[in-house]
Amino acid sequence: MAFDIEMIKEVYAQIPSRIEAARKVVGKPLTLTEKILYAHLSEGAAGQAFKRGTSYVDFQPDRVAMQDATAQMALLQFMQAGRSQVAVPSTVHCDHLIQAEIGADKDLSKAKDKNKEVYDFLASVSNKYGIGFWKPGAGIIHQVVLENYAFPGGMMIGTDSHTPNAGGLGMIAIGVGGADACDVMAGLPWELKFPKLIGVKLTGKLSGWTAAKDVILKVAGILTVKGGTGAIVEYFGEGARSLSATGKGTICNMGAEIGATTSIFGYDEKSAAYLSGTGRSDIAALANGIAEHLTGDSEVYANPEQYFDQVIEINLSELEPHVNGPFTPDLAWPISKFAAAVRENGWPAKLDVGLIGSCTNSSYEDISRAASLAQQAVDKKLVAKSEYTITPGSEQVRFTVARDGFLDTFDKMGGVVLANACGPCIGQWARHGAEKQEKNSIITSFNRNFAKRADGNPNTHAFVASPEIVTALAIAGDLTFNPLTDTLTNSEGNQVRLDEPRGLELPTKGFAVEDAGYQAPAADGSTVQVLVSPTSDRLQLLDSFAAWEGVDLTGLKLLIKAKGKCTTDHISMAGPWLKYRGHLDNISNNMLIGAVNAFNEATNSVKNQLTGAYGEVPATQRAYKAAGIGSIVVGDENYGEGSSREHAAMEPRFLGVRAILVKSFARIHETNLKKQGMLALTFANPADYDLIQENDVIDIKGLTTFAPGKALEVVFHHADGTSHTVVANHTYNQGQIEWFKAGSALNLIKAKA
Ligand code: SF4
Repeated sequence: MAFDIEMIKEVYAQIPSRIEAARKVVGKPLTLTEKILYAHLSEGAAGQAFKRGTSYVDFQPDRVAMQDATAQMALLQFMQAGRSQVAVPSTVHCDHLIQAEIGADKDLSKAKDKNKEVYDFLASVSNKYGIGFWKPGAGIIHQVVLENYAFPGGMMIGTDSHTPNAGGLGMIAIGVGGADACDVMAGLPWELKFPKLIGVKLTGKLSGWTAAKDVILKVAGILTVKGGTGAIVEYFGEGARSLSATGKGTICNMGAEIGATTSIFGYDEKSAAYLSGTGRSDIAALANGIAEHLTGDSEVYANPEQYFDQVIEINLSELEPHVNGPFTPDLAWPISKFAAAVRENGWPAKLDVGLIGSCTNSSYEDISRAASLAQQAVDKKLVAKSEYTITPGSEQVRFTVARDGFLDTFDKMGGVVLANACGPCIGQWARHGAEKQEKNSIITSFNRNFAKRADGNPNTHAFVASPEIVTALAIAGDLTFNPLTDTLTNSEGNQVRLDEPRGLELPTKGFAVEDAGYQAPAADGSTVQVLVSPTSDRLQLLDSFAAWEGVDLTGLKLLIKAKGKCTTDHISMAGPWLKYRGHLDNISNNMLIGAVNAFNEATNSVKNQLTGAYGEVPATQRAYKAAGIGSIVVGDENYGEGSSREHAAMEPRFLGVRAILVKSFARIHETNLKKQGMLALTFANPADYDLIQENDVIDIKGLTTFAPGKALEVVFHHADGTSHTVVANHTYNQGQIEWFKAGSALNLIKAKA
């Protein structure tokens, strides 16, 4: 039901010849990452070699996965493309909107009620356009993808930063914004800067208390939260081959915390075992047929320094369990040094809550090893001192670990099973008392531990570790407990030691599930109605943006001259606004409210040139729109850096801003603006930024001869009757100019469809 074997056959049929062609143009042995990237070049990019870290390349991914929060705008946009079906297999996963409070059943039913209109929209739009829909309670996107869709040698994009989880099964899987997902579903290629390559050679073998999680906790300590930026991390060596596929998934998942584009392991016996264990022996058989192409060339792994931009070596036999944090995932402490760090830094040693599971660590192996410790606590008459929660990653895992008795074991230890959803990992945790903002410690087997992420309390010291270490510390209730060396006092007053955790990579009786929570799309969705209430304040169907009127733009007002940093978060804030991400009109009320106005140094206060009064940026722009007047936004360096949030480009477009003129752009935002039919321009002379005055009226000239490489002119008419003409550069190619003329990239796709 859930995977598309025909698509995989097609991909595998092409992989050998494409890799051979790449080897010829690159002229040397290839890493696994290069093989998969070159095997997925779009038609226009085929036959070329690319420079790491500089070339922008078009790829053709095999799959798209979307989580429910980001899927809303991606799919509202996709509806504009005029297609009857998605161009590549795609799925939606309802995991982010379920709040954890009491326990799985009650929390799930409350979420279904509260988010009904969002779920109804996602279910109906998926049904109509051929998209697989995973209902609330079915599981967390990355675990469901690993169990059902990830395949060695494939390429996937997902609208979530931990999409790289699928790298555990040998897939290039990259987190993107909704606009990219929309493009790929609409049949467009997808652009990525050809990444640098970091090789991590794993030697030795894990044993005892050490788990796969400790590999990435160690790597995060070495590379820090920025060290992987612009790079793909490729793991190899005998140590890599000894890790379970789900352990590899954990490592790739948390690679997002070092800023890596993605992470990947090669195909091996463990991958084959996991594929077979999850009902996909046919894919394992296909992968076996091209196995030499699903790993790096032997010359690469023999001399990695010659082929990777950076190489790290970790001996798994010597690796200690780690605890990382607080407040950042790269503050790495081997367990032997952690207790001293807790004392020296004055972090609260009393552990309030231990949380295991999430998309990062909820495999059968993780749960069974944690349960072996919970069982010991019961057998050795230890009473767990901390609260303890378990978040299964999927209904299939939950059902199987319940069948095998692990959830009963946790129950005996006082554990609470939460819904198969993100819950506390994304701040969807109604933690009682968090509002008091007391200093406290929690430890999780999740991936991120930035301040306020789990419970909104800035004084919660969140640490990250393997599920085994989380469980041991929750039993002890004490962050300074080292289960490798220390004893605990049981209810009879005896000193007892926890033995090393034990578990199984895969269930001996196989996975089982009664209702996985999957809804297959209609074979013919032409009569399916997409459900969006016209009175909804969370969802709104989009209207196409108007095409360019065919003449130069004149009489535009200056909306804001933004000073200094203006990230996508300044342009379209997150937090409480996220609830409106499926409603363009409502979310547009946050447009640019974080940007600093260069004329008064204030945020969300700009001069309305129609009235002379100062007002909020969105309200001022709405006044211009109502008067039929366009506007422009002027900005500083690296305008639009940060997340790839498409709302930051859609909101100004929706409210009638015609151009963004800045000293420089963050590339993704610049592309997003182009896709929405906006003019994204840069000062040829950045010092011209200083010429722009608060009451300027603006003309943009040269649009009737708009061409690649040809600058436009922007005339600023000042209130004193003088004017300045500014040369404005752009990076539009001919195709992107057509987007501008059509009003948006989607308008053009629709016209062609
Ligand atoms: S469990 Fe956490 S990291 Fe995973 S998808 Fe959900 S919010 Fe993201």
